[in-house]
Amino acid sequence: MNQKGVYVVNVIKRYLVGNWKMNQTQEEIRAFFATFKNLVSGITTTNHETWIAPQFVHIPLVHSLFFPNGQVGAQNCSHKEKGAFTGDVSAKALKDIDAHFVIIGHSERRAIFKEDPLLLREKIQVALANKLKIIFCIGETLKERENGDALRIVGEQLNISLNGVASSSEIETEILLAYEPVWAIGTGRTATPEQAQEMHAYIRKLLQEQLKLNSALLPILYGGSVTPENIDALLQQPDINGALVGGASLKANDFAKLFASAAAVQQPHSGGKRINN
Ligand code: PEP
Repeated sequence: MNQKGVYVVNVIKRYLVGNWKMNQTQEEIRAFFATFKNLVSGITTTNHETWIAPQFVHIPLVHSLFFPNGQVGAQNCSHKEKGAFTGDVSAKALKDIDAHFVIIGHSERRAIFKEDPLLLREKIQVALANKLKIIFCIGETLKERENGDALRIVGEQLNISLNGVASSSEIETEILLAYEPVWAIGTGRTATPEQAQEMHAYIRKLLQEQLKLNSALLPILYGGSVTPENIDALLQQPDINGALVGGASLKANDFAKLFASAAAVQQPHSGGKRINN
């Protein structure tokens, strides 16, 4: 209840995040924003944020074209604060060029660059120390799902990388989670809304019960072949608070349609309902 004696219902914001991966030139970025801004200019939205993660070198350009209507961030950062780590980019340098967030633990980093949960834990620590928001990705492979191991694997990824990594309040306010089943990324094979909801509800429960976090307001995004055709059904699920989008975020027309869908979601999500006393 607030000071006026009225119950306040907090609802988690909806997040639409584009992961551009290793794509786009400056010219393509300018063309993207010219079209995208034109398409979304008439859409009003109060409870939804749009973020984009381009390649490191394009962060200032995207910032200049997108801020303050949208936020720009990075797809990765070093696990070390500074020093002799040739080729790495520090969280501090990202903050220095106005990055708002960093994606940590994307399955491509885990699989191709062999980033394990303990290394990811270090990245989370260094990103938090530099006041970057974090999108922490988790998800199982197809084999793990087929073996009935999906919940256990995701639980382990969360436990090892998040348990005690920072204060509860920092985790609750600075970290967003993205459930990205590896078999759905870039494959055109999206998790069904029911499959995604089952995992999101499990993640929220695990955060609450095992990590002792107040997970009611912690955003959990879904990622894996999200398109304008399937986003609405995903966002209708009570524990899905947004989408992390790869392929469809590169096309201004598709990203504008995703934006419209994220802006249109109205109903409070179960994970977001909390009565404040
Ligand atoms: C991603 O890379 O995070 C992703 C979800 O990709 P896509 O939307 O192309 O499956």
